[in-house]
Amino acid sequence: MKRFPLLALTALCTATAFATPSGTTVIANGTAIDPGTGKIIPNAAIIVQGDRITSIVQNSTEISKKGDTVIDAKGKFILPGYIDTHVHFFQSGDIFTRPDGLDLNSIRPYKQETEWIRSHLDDAFARYLRCGITSVVDIGGPLWNFEMRKRANATAKAPRVAAAGPLISSVSRPQLDLGDPPIVKIDTPEQGREMVRKLAAQNPDYIKIWYIVPPAQPAASPTPQSSASGSVSSEPSPAAPPSPGQSDVERAAIFRPVVHAVVEESHRLKLRVAVHATELEAARASAEEGADLLVHSVTDKPVDDAFVKLLKEKGTILTPTLVVFERYGRTFANKLELTPEEKAWGNPEVIASLDVTKIPEDKRPERLKKAMANPQQVLDGIQKTYDVALKNLKTLEDAGITIATGTDAGNIGTIHGPAIFREFQLMKQAGLTPMQILQCTTANAAKTFGGDTGAKIGSLKPGNFADLVILKSNPLDDIKNASDIDSVMKSGVVYKAGAILPK
Ligand SMILES: [Zn+2]
Repeated sequence: MKRFPLLALTALCTATAFATPSGTTVIANGTAIDPGTGKIIPNAAIIVQGDRITSIVQNSTEISKKGDTVIDAKGKFILPGYIDTHVHFFQSGDIFTRPDGLDLNSIRPYKQETEWIRSHLDDAFARYLRCGITSVVDIGGPLWNFEMRKRANATAKAPRVAAAGPLISSVSRPQLDLGDPPIVKIDTPEQGREMVRKLAAQNPDYIKIWYIVPPAQPAASPTPQSSASGSVSSEPSPAAPPSPGQSDVERAAIFRPVVHAVVEESHRLKLRVAVHATELEAARASAEEGADLLVHSVTDKPVDDAFVKLLKEKGTILTPTLVVFERYGRTFANKLELTPEEKAWGNPEVIASLDVTKIPEDKRPERLKKAMANPQQVLDGIQKTYDVALKNLKTLEDAGITIATGTDAGNIGTIHGPAIFREFQLMKQAGLTPMQILQCTTANAAKTFGGDTGAKIGSLKPGNFADLVILKSNPLDDIKNASDIDSVMKSGVVYKAGAILPK
């Protein structure tokens, strides 16, 4: 197994901790909405002392007078800050950010891309805050993710960050390995345990597994599975490669011994496990093995009763990440339709890069040429995914499974910050009510964040961090109003939404 560059870990960030505001702030006369309990308090007074909420009461003039600072929220709606439970700060969202999926090294070397990303972290953080997102879970990246977490948690205009390290993967991605790889191929259960122990030293919020099931091989005309060349491991795989005619269960079983070992070792060390598993049988195997979080929807087939029962019994949380399923395809097919929120609050350099017509024809990889030549086929494929994924979300929500909102922002075309508002639209299309969507984005997402911080975010509770979003219109009338942001409070400090990003 490859050694990680330990030197990078000692280069901790130099950002100074920000001051907690002194005095009392009262947010008066607005409507407080606490999605976790479904409670709506009209004419509320939210009292904030330092970085904490101290009480929420029916308004009275007397209480409002007590504040050192009074924010008049008449006609406005106050909610816990939003939480995006699936982002990746090692990716920018631009066209160059995943050379394993689209190799444009000839235009912008991947090294340059990663340098840009690391020098623009504060910019990405601020874009989350602009969108009312006061906490995020970075669900996997290079080891420097832990420096990023530290930096975010010491930066005022940043969301709180929980983070996982490198993905424990069934497949290799040598294109992303510049010495601190975000994805590490693991071939044996013992290697998996060793990796968990190594990551445990970083105090990760999750151990992340990338459970990629090899595609089905037609029984009649087998095609050989591509070899694992470039793998960071030189050890032979213990499992046979997929053979023709194997069932979904059999193909999912190939990597399952590693999943078993990683979950067991993580839980022994009191660490939670998140799994990328978009096939039903891989998701089922993950939940059976005790995964705490499934980080995507099941997209290959409808979930069945046994699966629903399993998640319920195990208390497994699921993050649908609907927006990411359309964004690679739409970007490549030149059919990207960014929302007004993304155009306004996404990073302009990232957005500019997504215009694929600007890539010289002779430098377009085959995958891009194909998508550009036949966009309808791409759109049909996305629709097929949504036909399954949206229905599955509704089934799981109706069954009382804990759903946590997440976007997979940072992937090509999925914009850090405002991608969450496209996610809301898709959750609405799936049939969720505004209150359900907001519950997924606050109280449920806080469970996903976990730890001491997770217990103090996502709801309007005395003692919780004063992380709030103040809206100009009612999100319960239409979830689109969730982006009609007047101001955002993080750790008791209030920011006018329009003043957060550089002009
Ligand atoms: Zn992801």
